[in-house]
Amino acid sequence: MARYWPLGSGRIVTSPFGPREDGFHAGTDFGFPGGSANKPVYACASGTVIYAGAAQGYGGPDPAGWLVIDHPAGVGGGCTEDGHIIREVARGDRVTAGQRVARINPDSATNGGVAPHLHLSVMPREYNPDAKMDPIPWLAGALEPPARTIFGPDISNHNGVVDLDRVKAEGFDFVWAKVSEGTTFRDTYWPRTRDWAREIGLILAGYHYLRESDPNRQADLFVDQLGDKSVPAMLDFEEGGGGIDNFWAVLHAIEARGVHVALSYIPRWYWERIGRPDLSQVPGLIQSSYVEGTGYASVLYPGNDSIRWAAYGGRQPDILQFTDRALIAAKTLDANAFRGSPDQLRTLLTVGGDEDEMAGWNPELVNRAMELLENIAGIYRVSTSPLRHLGEGPVNTCAGFAWTADGLTHAQFVKQMAEEGHTPSIALLMEVASALDNPDYPDRQDDAKLAQLLLAGVSKTKKAAATTDIAAWLEAEAAQQEGS
Ligand SMILES: [Zn+2]
Repeated sequence: MARYWPLGSGRIVTSPFGPREDGFHAGTDFGFPGGSANKPVYACASGTVIYAGAAQGYGGPDPAGWLVIDHPAGVGGGCTEDGHIIREVARGDRVTAGQRVARINPDSATNGGVAPHLHLSVMPREYNPDAKMDPIPWLAGALEPPARTIFGPDISNHNGVVDLDRVKAEGFDFVWAKVSEGTTFRDTYWPRTRDWAREIGLILAGYHYLRESDPNRQADLFVDQLGDKSVPAMLDFEEGGGGIDNFWAVLHAIEARGVHVALSYIPRWYWERIGRPDLSQVPGLIQSSYVEGTGYASVLYPGNDSIRWAAYGGRQPDILQFTDRALIAAKTLDANAFRGSPDQLRTLLTVGGDEDEMAGWNPELVNRAMELLENIAGIYRVSTSPLRHLGEGPVNTCAGFAWTADGLTHAQFVKQMAEEGHTPSIALLMEVASALDNPDYPDRQDDAKLAQLLLAGVSKTKKAAATTDIAAWLEAEAAQQEGS
């Protein structure tokens, strides 16, 4: 029953729940420093949309206005109301926790004249405007919504000509298209798709359907039909594709011809059939697991926490093909989801992109990693020294201890070396001591006093010898500068 914040990270409360000059504010207003227009709004919990569109106090006309989502008892119940938004889901739609459902209305004129922000109301049980409660305690422990989930179809000659202008206008960010299969089949729709996608800025990959035939001849055919080696490749590895050795052989043959293989369509069912090989090293894993029904991709999408994203072969899929019946550009197509931004997807498709490990991480993992870092660097701890003060409490962080130990060890080391007559150490002490009463170094006065104290412990003969050495160096250095 995870709950999510209604806005992404960086959000602030612009007006809390409670009494205000204009009456009782029965909700919390959220926004971002610097402006909130068009910022995405996420479902705080999964449920069903029971009201959507224009609403008094929240603006209009539809799709501007409000959204009310009823959350079933199984996810903790309650009802949330998002106001001053433009809806992206419709009445009757089922939404998942953390799913993007709206954006903040940028147009004050159609919104009662208030500056763009999100008003969130929470009701503990069914929809009941008289029972609105403070949303902040209700959201205690809420997760960060995913930065973004983007969608795209995959297409082949079987789909005929797909209107990519319309695909883009419907909000899709990428398209995968078939290029070739085996050693002889060329998809004649590919060149048109390639040029069209590039012209309008859809993220693109071309795919080869693997067969159990000569890897080099397959690679020759694919690269020739691809027509542009800068387009990233996807290997479609399933029925008729043979074992994992064949996958790697074709991948290496394509890469040897100067094309980057960025994506591996290896559905779990096929992975099981070929004996569950290790997939941890395959580029950009795509799983397919279809939901029931047909409709808009964003509505059919089972969510970023769906079990369909579960790991197999030693890694999590990067992309999920979740339906073959999405309504896209007036056709019924396969639809894929990527849990990240278009830039993160571009990184995944780029040579070396998988080296940027954070790019493929989902926001929850990033949060966990940040927690771990804070734990290491930010939490004060008791010293482990046997000579710590009696009753000494937490005094420093792990990182702070390491830093302090480094400084003390260095000082101790310089002291010992100087006492042994080590010229660079004596020179260092003289340099730091020279800062005493020098107005250029107000923050080094204690250090200068310490250096003087340590110098006093170095014998006169060793100091004299070091001074001679230092004078000789300075002379040599001056001579070198003259000569150059
Ligand atoms: Zn409000």
